[in-house]
Amino acid sequence: LRARLSDASLLREAALVGSRWIAASKSGLAVTNPSTGAVIGHVPDLTPADAEEAIAAAALAQKAWAARTAKDRGQVLRRWYDLMMAHQDDLAAILTAEQGKPLPEAKGEIAYGASFIDWFAEEARRAYGDIVPGHAPDKRILVLKQPIGVVAAITPWNFPNAMITRKAGPAFAAGCAMVLKPASQTPFSAIALAVLAERAGLPAGLFSVLTGSARVLGAVLTASPVVRKLTFTGSTEVGAQLYAQCAPTIKRLGLELGGNAPFIVFDDADVDAAVEGAIIAKFRNNGQTCVCANRIYVQAGVYDVFAEKLAARLSTLQTGDGFAPGVTFGPLIDGKAVQKVAEHIADATAKGASVRLGGRPHALGGTFWEPTVLTGVTADMAVAREETFGPVAPLFRFETEAEVVAAANDTEFGLASYLYTRDLACSFRVSEALEYGMVGVNTGLVSTAEAPFGGVKSSGLGREGSRHGLDDFLELKYLCLGGI
Ligand code: ADP
Repeated sequence: LRARLSDASLLREAALVGSRWIAASKSGLAVTNPSTGAVIGHVPDLTPADAEEAIAAAALAQKAWAARTAKDRGQVLRRWYDLMMAHQDDLAAILTAEQGKPLPEAKGEIAYGASFIDWFAEEARRAYGDIVPGHAPDKRILVLKQPIGVVAAITPWNFPNAMITRKAGPAFAAGCAMVLKPASQTPFSAIALAVLAERAGLPAGLFSVLTGSARVLGAVLTASPVVRKLTFTGSTEVGAQLYAQCAPTIKRLGLELGGNAPFIVFDDADVDAAVEGAIIAKFRNNGQTCVCANRIYVQAGVYDVFAEKLAARLSTLQTGDGFAPGVTFGPLIDGKAVQKVAEHIADATAKGASVRLGGRPHALGGTFWEPTVLTGVTADMAVAREETFGPVAPLFRFETEAEVVAAANDTEFGLASYLYTRDLACSFRVSEALEYGMVGVNTGLVSTAEAPFGGVKSSGLGREGSRHGLDDFLELKYLCLGGI
């Protein structure tokens, strides 16, 4: 990997604790390439004392950072953004090596991740408060927005760059400090971000990147009374655990949890556009995103043609090592992910579904899996209830709008949803009826820095991106001025 990088210092085998870089020792944690199983490097296995040190450094740095002007903070963020884009190729190579997604997709993630730093560099100056008409002749009401303080972040491996910048951008723009624990599968992308943040002039101590056991370090971060907010992206199961761990210290919470996205194709849809949208929504990152279409509902009139076109289009796309040219689908992250995909397919076929395409481990071996299309899928199958997080497109047949809305909402999750129709009235009716935080109408891609990303029900709390994303890192303070 080092040989691929034009700036090899971005691949640093060390964690950042306050202002101190701690190098990995021989007993550090190995990070492997999911395509090849080769070890990329090591990161330190930090202790609870290291986490405490990071929190203390963050508390100190945060005060000075919050005292600077919003414009000033925005300028530091803007430099960070510029550095990310200047090193886009290197950051993408590190990302592909540790995560597996194809290099062009990794480059896309770097640009997407950087866009949150750019957006919040601008939004920093727009943390407007209110002046409210008073409730008494001698009183005035002012509402200020102030940074929450020290924020802890725990992030997953599926977007090793963007899931960090979506949190760090608004946190630093608002005047907060952040102690980050990235996923152990993909720490090097996080560490590279910290190297660039340092170069951009982010003050020492403001941003720590801890490596080691999520359970051990997460326990310190959630228990600390100094940490005023936890922002987490990951599974609903772990999110619920962290929610409970934060209860004794009454922290603010931002939770981006699991999804079970419905993707609805009505009879009147542009089927070719729906197929392209489904490929993006279902197979991006090889099906390993929380907004991935998990259940594809196709109306009876276009069911067969949609299935045929989807399978035909998918069979032209290549699976392989993310660095190989022409590859669209990388490996799954690990053996556990492969097992879940295999189980979901076995469960569906045992209950009557048919494999239209794929359905098997890929000939490449390892954690590669063939893009799969299942037809004749019904509500009693595991794929209807659980997030598959892999390259499996299960096609459910439906007849009426009322039936599909009820089916789509019949889940504890509520993150992304998608629908394809050329009927404007239907777009509105169904969008409003879907119990989801996000609806893509005639598009399979909804994420962008300008829009509020987030879910309802068991999919989480809070929003990332947009002006609302900044509010998630601010507290309201109300001043009542009397005697006027
Ligand atoms: P995924 O299935 O995407 O790995 P997880 O929820 O297991 O989802 O992991 C998301 C993040 O949460 C990762 O950074 C992981 O290390 C971390 N994590 C997992 N378990 C815990 C825990 N008990 N406490 C704190 N963090 C955890």
